[in-house]
Amino acid sequence: MTTKSHLFYQTDSRRPVLAEARGIYMWDVDGKRYIDGSSGAMVSNIGHSSPRVLEAMRRQMEKSTFGYRLHFETEPSEMLATKVAKLTPDGMEKVFFVSGGSEAVESAIKIARQYAVTIGQSSRWKVISRTPSYHGSTLGALALTSYTPLTLPFEPMMQVMPKIPAPRAYLDGLELDDPATGAHYAAMLEAKILEEGPETVLAFIHEPVGGASTGALVPPEGYMQAVRAICNRYGVLLIHDEVMSGGGRTGRFLGADHWGVAPDIIAISKGFGAGYAPLGAMIAHDRIVDPVLKAGGFMHGHTYAGNPLACAAGLAVLEEIEAGAMMENAAETGDLLKSRLGALMQRYPFIGDVRGKGLLLAFELVEDRQTMRPLPKALNAYSELVELAYQEGLIIYSRRTRDGTEGDHFLVCPPMITNAEQVDEIMVMLTSALD
Ligand code: PMP
Repeated sequence: MTTKSHLFYQTDSRRPVLAEARGIYMWDVDGKRYIDGSSGAMVSNIGHSSPRVLEAMRRQMEKSTFGYRLHFETEPSEMLATKVAKLTPDGMEKVFFVSGGSEAVESAIKIARQYAVTIGQSSRWKVISRTPSYHGSTLGALALTSYTPLTLPFEPMMQVMPKIPAPRAYLDGLELDDPATGAHYAAMLEAKILEEGPETVLAFIHEPVGGASTGALVPPEGYMQAVRAICNRYGVLLIHDEVMSGGGRTGRFLGADHWGVAPDIIAISKGFGAGYAPLGAMIAHDRIVDPVLKAGGFMHGHTYAGNPLACAAGLAVLEEIEAGAMMENAAETGDLLKSRLGALMQRYPFIGDVRGKGLLLAFELVEDRQTMRPLPKALNAYSELVELAYQEGLIIYSRRTRDGTEGDHFLVCPPMITNAEQVDEIMVMLTSALD
């Protein structure tokens, strides 16, 4: 862009201006075509410009675009809540809509705390999370996030919460499919609860399948179940942040569905609105919601929550996923893409690991595959590779090495409609960028 821009986000660096997007493709105003290889930030799960979703939004727009939740219920929000309750574990019958991931996490922490206070356990306030992790940008969600450049400037406005290591078996040289590995990392949660004092611990939050912070981390055998058991043992609530892993991208509606583990509270967003509308939800078990509602209500809310236009979009997104068997496709195409990415390890010694589930996939660059030592930060492989892929017309999502403790990793997460020929297209562009 040549004219002065008045926009700013994290930095004032400029990207091409988007003109149009359809399916897995996007075009800028100069006519250059890109493959949306990361679905934005793992958002546009069903691809762009779905006629079904656009039509549903158009129909809703003609009826009403907003009804304040304290004045009206709306049909789309009722229908979407019913559908979501069916897709989540038994007993999680109440859905609280929000407009994004941070709001969903924030709502999860607050209902957990209000529940504890309601049942006379107000000594419980600490929420243990993992490192690395990202749970959102608002002060509450940020307190659970483990990246100091993001958190430090805001202390003491927020209190950083206790952390345990994420189960990165590949870094510690442990076998992913060995139950001893899962038990090893879960024991760290138990140790942390005991160290903090169980009577002070409110909840544990983690991503069932990791997103951007860990690069599609898949938990080791037994970890999910062991974490659930430890939370039960100490009366600690289990929160699943499914903002990125939820919505079908891993091949199941929730990442945790792969292990059949039900948490107490779930946060979803991103693929739930799938880029059509800002939409998220916090879903809690009835045993948490009911006492809170009985005691006078949940003291929390956002003005745009559950607005009918966003809910109509969300409903149509779920219908489209079903109609197009997209979760099945995410599982199948995900396996294909993962094996193609895995094959790159023969060609490039600097790819240290390929991981993920369904179409939530990542690869990690390292200096040495044996030690998994990250590439030197100064090499700036992070922005370099993203830029080269961009020039090829492939958008991938990256996370840079932090102080040499984590590798540069790259998420390859195209929409759930991606087919085998498009996997070929992605691989040609990616190989060219890696070369
Ligand atoms: N949790 C996770 C796991 C996320 O990946 C993100 C966004 N990257 C968030 C929460 C926050 O979501 P939002 O940016 O929509 O507020």
